[in-house]
Amino acid sequence: MSRFIDSRLGALEEYVPGEQPQDKKYIKLNTNEFPYPPAPQVIAAVTAAEVADLRLYSDPTCKVLKEKLAARYGAEPENVFVGNGSDEVLNFAFMAWCRGGAAFADITYGFYSVFAELYGIDAEVIPLKEDLSVDPEEYMNKGKAVVLANPNAPTGLCLPRDTIERVVKSNPGSAVIVDEAYVDFGGESATELTKKYDNLLVVGTFSKSRALAGARVGFGVGDKELIRDLEKIKYCTNPYNINRLSLVAAAAALDARAYYDEKDALVAETREKAQKELRARGFAVSESKANFIFATHEKIPGGALYEALKARGILVRHFTVPRIRDYNRITVGTPEEMKTLIDNIKEIINGLE
Ligand SMILES: *Cc1c(COP(=O)(O)O)cnc(C)c1O
Repeated sequence: MSRFIDSRLGALEEYVPGEQPQDKKYIKLNTNEFPYPPAPQVIAAVTAAEVADLRLYSDPTCKVLKEKLAARYGAEPENVFVGNGSDEVLNFAFMAWCRGGAAFADITYGFYSVFAELYGIDAEVIPLKEDLSVDPEEYMNKGKAVVLANPNAPTGLCLPRDTIERVVKSNPGSAVIVDEAYVDFGGESATELTKKYDNLLVVGTFSKSRALAGARVGFGVGDKELIRDLEKIKYCTNPYNINRLSLVAAAAALDARAYYDEKDALVAETREKAQKELRARGFAVSESKANFIFATHEKIPGGALYEALKARGILVRHFTVPRIRDYNRITVGTPEEMKTLIDNIKEIINGLE
């Protein structure tokens, strides 16, 4: 860092993304990307003419995409915000509504604590229960903002919609942000509750269930005043936050619902099968409803399994936080990739005995 950096910023702990090897030699099960390509309509939508139009700025109002998102989630366009990845939506949400503090879990999406530190927000970190589930009672009547990933990451465990509703209802004086990055793989979405409660923002993304991680498109659904707050921050930072090609790709993805419903169901089916096989090999596996598996084996430390798989050309995600350092988070790939994974895990475990 230079000697010019603001000392407070210089001291921040950064979010550490999963590895993105550029040589493509790994079976990549480490960042929860979709194992299938975007829908054919999406690929067809990104035409040479659209590329030629890159000389023009993108639509700062994201009109077409907002209309399609509104139709998809039973809302009006004024109830929808579009961000450069859901990371940007979450960033703006922390900036907008968390001055009075924010409560979130000890084991959850790593960006929440990074944003809290970035904005000097007082974070109340609530430990997950012993079984790594969220205790919803701990999030009631907080008197400060509440942030929940549902399904949670990296456990994949979910809360039902009526539990989310109780949390939202008990915190009428604060924003409740529900991050549904993984909801399409088997969770229960809270978007319909945004019609009833003006303090709920539901955050979604095209990165996980719509095969567009590289396009960077996320969104928030909520009361129109909440959306107006996020727009305010957007117009104070980067009005053209979504590039032209990503706007076109995301809109086409919403038109390809049948394709994604089928592929999301296939990912869920592959997850169930792989979870069963890992349990049969002696792993303790959480009841994940996301596109990843969270697993630990008593015979091998998490870091050792991560390294052994990497040496065999398979990348998974290992976190060094003490509470979960014996786990690995394994993205659900294609059935073939999962077979290779499980064959390799069998060899590694057998080699220990
Ligand atoms: C991946 C992920 C995100 C970020 O997704 P982008 O839309 O790619 O920025 C947000 N929240 C959770 C819980 C995630 O796992």
